[in-house]
Amino acid sequence: MRKISATYIFPGNQPFLKNGILICNDDGTVVDLIDTGGQLREEAGLEHYTGVMVPGFVNAHCHLELSHLKGKIPEKTGLGGFLGAINKLRNLEIENQEAEMEKADFQMKHAGIVAVGDVSNSYASFETKRNSKIKYHTFVEAFGFHPSRAEKAFTFAEFVESMFREFGLSASVTPHSPYSVSENLFLKIREKALAENTILSVHNQESRDELAFFKDGSGGIARHVHEILGIDISHWQPTGKSSLEFTLSFIPKENLLLLVHNTFTSPEDIQMLKRKRNRENTFLVLCPNANLYIEDHLPPVLLFQKEKMNICLGTDSLASNHMLSVLQEMKTLQEHFPEITLQDLVEWGCWNGSRALGLTHLFGSLESGKKPGVNLITGVDLQRLKITDKSKVKRLL
Ligand SMILES: [Zn+2]
Repeated sequence: MRKISATYIFPGNQPFLKNGILICNDDGTVVDLIDTGGQLREEAGLEHYTGVMVPGFVNAHCHLELSHLKGKIPEKTGLGGFLGAINKLRNLEIENQEAEMEKADFQMKHAGIVAVGDVSNSYASFETKRNSKIKYHTFVEAFGFHPSRAEKAFTFAEFVESMFREFGLSASVTPHSPYSVSENLFLKIREKALAENTILSVHNQESRDELAFFKDGSGGIARHVHEILGIDISHWQPTGKSSLEFTLSFIPKENLLLLVHNTFTSPEDIQMLKRKRNRENTFLVLCPNANLYIEDHLPPVLLFQKEKMNICLGTDSLASNHMLSVLQEMKTLQEHFPEITLQDLVEWGCWNGSRALGLTHLFGSLESGKKPGVNLITGVDLQRLKITDKSKVKRLL
């Protein structure tokens, strides 16, 4: 049994406690969380830390299989440039892929991450996930812009999904984005998602180019698909509407949905999203460090907060980030949006991530019976309760 106290405890889904005490079994199962009313009492065997204690982090968006591309892709080139580089470099030093994924998995664990929503195009990450202490949900991503590719892309994604599931790893087939998935392929994914009530995750409005592609078929994405990938785009009829509206027309209302990035999502998009879906099962995943890396632009976070959207945090991959750390994402948000409270950041990085991945019975909050992982964040401004650039995370359990 361990009794652990810290200057502040943020339980994830409850208001914070000053000098509270967390009681855990040696295996990390939470037994009790005690509100001392702020008065720290001397007790035999009590460990006390200066800092903020929080549950294990949930990384709601990652691509483990791109870990070997760390530092290989130039920054701030826009999504068109980034996709072109990924396409060219994906197989570069592929012999290092396995080792780099294992390193990334180890670093995430070290950074206090207990669960990950990981996007995969193949079963390359299978062994790493099978041997990991982290709980993964794999989003097996299907893409194919030309309608003639739908059958093949869908069959392959289902095959990869079955590989993961066969070994007890949770997985679901999901569409990559509105600009890379044909209507035919979207419809197949929709039908399967409805039948199996699976979780869906879609890249949404990550770049200005995505808006242009749907508005009039122009911009970097059109160039990427047509000129670099050499795909015939003559069938493409720009809808003249927002790409999010197109995506939502294929996503069943009943399923959990993670919309990832939302860098260029407008107030009108949010109103439309609220009309078309329940807030309860809809999550906006923010990956601010990847947004700065690729587009050098951040999503309208304060708008999402004002509209009471469920926000989660993700790291994206090492192809577009320097580190896979939820705390690093929190730091970037805190720096650019000083008004965001620590209470909100912890809710986004722990509790909402576990809701989005259907894992609230295991992670996201310091509640008795769960084994959520316990992190200590040091280097916090304890007067103002703000994350600073000196903040660090240490795993206590
Ligand atoms: Zn991504």
